[in-house]
Amino acid sequence: MFSKILIANRGEIAVRIMRTARRMGVATVAIYSDADAGSLHVAESDEAVRVGPAPVADSYLQAKAIIDAAKTTGAEAIHPGYGFLSENPDFVEQVEKAGLVFIGPSADAIRAMGLKDAAKALMERAGVPVVPGYHDERQEPEFLKQQADDIGYPVLIKARAGGGGKGMRKVDGPDQFADALAGAQREGKASFADDRVLIEKYVTSPRHIEMQVFGDDHGDAVHLFERDCSLQRRHQKVIEEAPAPGMTEEMRSAMGDAAVKAAKAIGYSGAGTVEFIVDGSDGLQPDRFWFMEMNTRLQVEHPVTEAITGLDLVELQLRIAAGEPLPFEQADLAIDGHAFEARLYAEDVARGFLPAIGTLDHLRFSDSARNDTGVREADEITPHYDPMIAKVIVHGRSRDEALARMRAALADTKIAGTVTNKAFLSALCRHVGFSAGDVDTGLIERDLAQLVQEDETPMLAQAVAAIAALELAGEPSQADPWSSLPGWRIWGAAQHFVKLVQDTTVFDLRVSLRNSRDFKVSSQADAVNVSLVDRAPGRMIVDGHAQPLCFAVSKVSGRVAQVTVFLNGDTFVFDVPDGVTEAGDAASGDDIRAPMPGLVKQVRVKAGQQVSKGEALAVLEAMKMEHTLTAARDGTVGEIYVSDGDQVSDGDLLVSLVAEKE
Ligand code: ADP
Repeated sequence: MFSKILIANRGEIAVRIMRTARRMGVATVAIYSDADAGSLHVAESDEAVRVGPAPVADSYLQAKAIIDAAKTTGAEAIHPGYGFLSENPDFVEQVEKAGLVFIGPSADAIRAMGLKDAAKALMERAGVPVVPGYHDERQEPEFLKQQADDIGYPVLIKARAGGGGKGMRKVDGPDQFADALAGAQREGKASFADDRVLIEKYVTSPRHIEMQVFGDDHGDAVHLFERDCSLQRRHQKVIEEAPAPGMTEEMRSAMGDAAVKAAKAIGYSGAGTVEFIVDGSDGLQPDRFWFMEMNTRLQVEHPVTEAITGLDLVELQLRIAAGEPLPFEQADLAIDGHAFEARLYAEDVARGFLPAIGTLDHLRFSDSARNDTGVREADEITPHYDPMIAKVIVHGRSRDEALARMRAALADTKIAGTVTNKAFLSALCRHVGFSAGDVDTGLIERDLAQLVQEDETPMLAQAVAAIAALELAGEPSQADPWSSLPGWRIWGAAQHFVKLVQDTTVFDLRVSLRNSRDFKVSSQADAVNVSLVDRAPGRMIVDGHAQPLCFAVSKVSGRVAQVTVFLNGDTFVFDVPDGVTEAGDAASGDDIRAPMPGLVKQVRVKAGQQVSKGEALAVLEAMKMEHTLTAARDGTVGEIYVSDGDQVSDGDLLVSLVAEKE
């Protein structure tokens, strides 16, 4: 086994690889860009080397700088993670030329799978089913059109060098063909400097099912069962699971055999994934799956396979790269239960899933899930890289149990400081079709409106935000809880107005302090009473709620600028645009009002009397308790509006002080 490896990646996957390396006693070297100098993957490594400025082209794609870093630190092997240089055969050759081991397949194996058309031809020869279509050299538009006519519409035109869904066009009929072809060619040329295309039968009700394979340098290969990645948005995976819902033993062994055949056809070593498209229109049928492509690296979604097999895929990668044979045979492997992975991103779902940035002011993951992450609380999501926050992975004995765990884990995940796709993931986990295992790649697009629909903001969430914005609940109770309360000191300002903004909705709220623990928060339409039982930073324990009400406060130059409220598994973000104002503003800060309905027991002062700050002005009896109302400042009593024995209501003016002169 290696004694030291370099990880040519960042974020969650770098951290995840280090975790296994550490357990195996293998030292780790991290690389980082300037934007990542303080990041988690650097902190978790044994050594770290700067490779360049923030842009990936200048840092994480700098093959030479990375290989130099491995040489100078004495690392013997390089793990590429996924993305970046992981599927770049030239990099593999440079690594090997430098006398280092690439933890992954050979450059030739990567090349064989690099272009969709060549890979399909190769797979066809190896006896692996491929989607019917044309994937040869000829590229004349009339010829390609004839091919499409022969295949039968709908067809899919794909840039042969494509990836990430780019350069793909669905064509529903012959008259659309010419335009679609031109579009796919343009995109292929722009994105991959290659305008050649292939044409495939478009599979209706398609499901994306992929097989995890492992090969070793001794000619062996096995599969570690399938993953279903049909929940996609714009060809990007959103939630993955293993095993695939509705999978039969017959279908699994047919797909497994095909995947192992594919791996063996290219002498594959290490972890790889063979992606198939499956026609799910009539259940899963062993003659209705076709090879799409092979990813010659560790996949983002590998943890679901780990969860159902109990294996550590990174450990296997390291062992195989070090020359060890596969430690098991196909017959030794079995599936245990069911697993899901949800990809949690900083993205603005309401704005078309736009990648978001921000400082993670608050970050708590659920204890009941595996959370693979590359960030900590207070870290920043920068615009330089993929805005992933974490992969949330759960396991259960059955699919239902695992999905219930995912719902609970997401509900328990609390993030403030950036918008996230958490509500969207939760909505997906509650989707009736998905819950029943009825998945296909069109599910998200079809039901998008329902999945991104935002819930109404409950009054209680508004109330928590308003109380937090006023910092009425921020401090844990002290010896004298009354003294820490601004409203108590200045009864005249026992009401506050708070303006909260959520996207385009403005909430104008009034917070009335009945005493140090009881608040009434009202909007135009609604009102809620909140009675504090206890408080701690970010948490209020409130009468009638078994669970604490949690929130996070983001400050900008000392004032509360945003409050994020976590309520019943949902997250509500409120901007506090202009801070908060006390009722009636400065001038009437001189007004002493009844903080609650009650009986005036005693007026302690007379008009014209000099009073000093803190001096008792009146005593009010309410809720069987006496409340002393004191002067907020030194001054002269102006008018007295009530007499002993008067019944007053919430907010009634009792006494005023003479306005101060400048
Ligand atoms: P890329 O390499 O750009 O990601 P793929 O070939 O892997 O492209 O296809 C991406 C996705 O497009 C698949 O997961 C599937 O949802 C859809 N897709 C691909 N081929 C077909 C097909 N022949 N019929 C229907 N959908 C397809």
